[in-house]
Amino acid sequence: VVEHGQPEHSVVTTCAYCGVGCSFRAEMKGEQVVRMVPDKNGGANHGHSCVKGRFAWGYATHRDRITTPMIRKHISDPWQEVSWEEAISYAASELKRIQGEHGRNSIGAITSSRCTNEETYLVQKLVRAAFGNNNVDTCARVCHSPTGYGLKQTLGESAGTQTFDSIMKSDVIMVIGANPTDGHPVFGSQMKRRLRQGAKLIIADPRAIDLVSSPHVKADYHLKLRPGTNVALITAMAHVIVTEGLVDEAFVRERCEWDSYQYWSEFVTQPENAPEALQEATGVSAADIRAAARLFATGGNAAIYYGLGVTEHSQGSTMVMGIANLAMATGNIGREGVGVNPLRGQNNVQGSCDMGSFPHEFPGYRHVSDDATRALFESAWGRPLDNEPGLRIPNMLDFAIDGSFKALYCEGEDIAQSDPNTQHVTHALASMECVIVQDLFLNETAMYAHVFLPGCSFLEKSGTFTNAERRISPVRRVMTPKNGYEDWQITAMLSEALGYPMPYQHASEIMDEIARLTPTFHGVSFKKLEEMGSIQWPCNEDHPDGTPIMHVDEFVRGKGRFMITEYVPTSEKVNNKYPLILTTGRILSHYNVGAQTRRTDNVAWHPEDVVEIHPQDAEDRGIKDGDWVGVTSRAGNTVLRAKITERVQPGVIYTTFHHPESGANVITTDNSDWATNCPEFKVTAVQVTRVSQL
Ligand code: SF4
Repeated sequence: VVEHGQPEHSVVTTCAYCGVGCSFRAEMKGEQVVRMVPDKNGGANHGHSCVKGRFAWGYATHRDRITTPMIRKHISDPWQEVSWEEAISYAASELKRIQGEHGRNSIGAITSSRCTNEETYLVQKLVRAAFGNNNVDTCARVCHSPTGYGLKQTLGESAGTQTFDSIMKSDVIMVIGANPTDGHPVFGSQMKRRLRQGAKLIIADPRAIDLVSSPHVKADYHLKLRPGTNVALITAMAHVIVTEGLVDEAFVRERCEWDSYQYWSEFVTQPENAPEALQEATGVSAADIRAAARLFATGGNAAIYYGLGVTEHSQGSTMVMGIANLAMATGNIGREGVGVNPLRGQNNVQGSCDMGSFPHEFPGYRHVSDDATRALFESAWGRPLDNEPGLRIPNMLDFAIDGSFKALYCEGEDIAQSDPNTQHVTHALASMECVIVQDLFLNETAMYAHVFLPGCSFLEKSGTFTNAERRISPVRRVMTPKNGYEDWQITAMLSEALGYPMPYQHASEIMDEIARLTPTFHGVSFKKLEEMGSIQWPCNEDHPDGTPIMHVDEFVRGKGRFMITEYVPTSEKVNNKYPLILTTGRILSHYNVGAQTRRTDNVAWHPEDVVEIHPQDAEDRGIKDGDWVGVTSRAGNTVLRAKITERVQPGVIYTTFHHPESGANVITTDNSDWATNCPEFKVTAVQVTRVSQL
């Protein structure tokens, strides 16, 4: 770690990595970060941090940063550095030309959960008001879009129900498809504190994550299910709770739609949903399912925390609804210590969704077909707005290959590395006439770009992030943007060049507009954030200081609604050619595609992605620890170094996707969630073979 003398001043800002949203004090000497110190007053972290966040500033000044705009006519041409005026003018003229030749719907944009709320709001405003369509999507499409859908259907709001601190009142903690000590380390530590105080722990995961057995913490039940069988497991648990009379009937009668409960209870009590009937599919013994269900229903305050192991499946949305069903049936919602808590991977997944970056919703989760909402935004933005949902990311890619989608503005997202079936993504990008990438580095997507607009890091901009507990925290500019502009200014320049000026002077004015137009944000402003430090939405006339716990007296939709969760096995099947299942995840020292953490001191701890394989599967294939192995799926193949471990069960392998050269997403398929198209990253049938050398 390089330190640069004594600090002269400090600025409190928010970590740009995971959905915990830790608050840090950037200690500065002039324009130079001396060190980042976790802020004791941080509402999410209370003075704690992890190794990722502490070194996060390193990438902001990395030599790979691109700070001058560049254009090229063809992706095989060399990049040409140009002025901002020329780059913006060229990008706008290409977008106009393409719309003129191919129609209004031939262009669109993708924003990222790495962007601030204000940046995301402007990207969707650019698309709806300046492009004149709803072709805007976000990387939340490929992570937590099923959370948005599933929680809206059941509880009425697309957000987690608790504060992180609520866990200190939990008696039973159920972790499903999440790895908090690696993916959300500061919250993972808080969870461990509560477990050391005696809370019980149920883990549902195909792999033995650290929490299964670490010093001072042991899971009471590790339901080591087969990848792709979440819905069977949650339905079997529901069967036990209903048939053994463990339902909190008073809560259900008072707070939920009784008809929906009756319909659901008839469904879950059918014999085919009994643990004994589903133990073969799930790979979890009926005895363990029964015991875990009893503990969840009778152990006191029970809270569920889940991650991408729930959402990134063909039944991701169904599983989210199954989780909400379980919480409602046992009365575990609406107070401290309980609830349904999605652990968001990136820092601003929640905010990205809140800000209307899905093609069917305006900010505040209001459908584009709703006349009153559209009239509100038309009046505020001065443009007629489309009432048809636009294209999702997979649609944009498919239509690019078909020839009807021609241009993409992509801010802060590296779809060529992070999205499944890389060959399909790069084919689509190469088929477009104009790809505009706005990012810090020449990432994998930029290989297919015609315009590169250099973005700036979280240390060079003002705005807000919203973490997994709906906490809006300030992002404060601690140094001058090395590229000359904050990201929201670049979007505004592009919009102006398209004939739709966005005359904001500061990011705070964008938040003021968000607050005016979004009921759950009516009380939010930069001034209020200065006073309070952070605010959990809804923050409005009814909740002027925010809302730590949701659904306290009634659900946002009025009565909670139980939804049927029929288990439908994934179409991704193992066979003789592809006999193993690959599942993917993250590691403590890296963040997502690693574009940032690979450019910090973190890279020393984890310089490559490896593939974990069970000793029996390794022996069957003559593979030794550290060997290079080929991993082949129906989508493609890659080569990784093998790590032999009993963390994974026989028949399952596991890898991460932090390094582009490992090509984890070259092999993932484009199967996706039935409701939201979230990719099924967690289940890919593969074969593994030893290769003699790389
Ligand atoms: Fe906190 Fe997550 Fe940043 Fe670590 S990576 S410091 S847990 S926000």
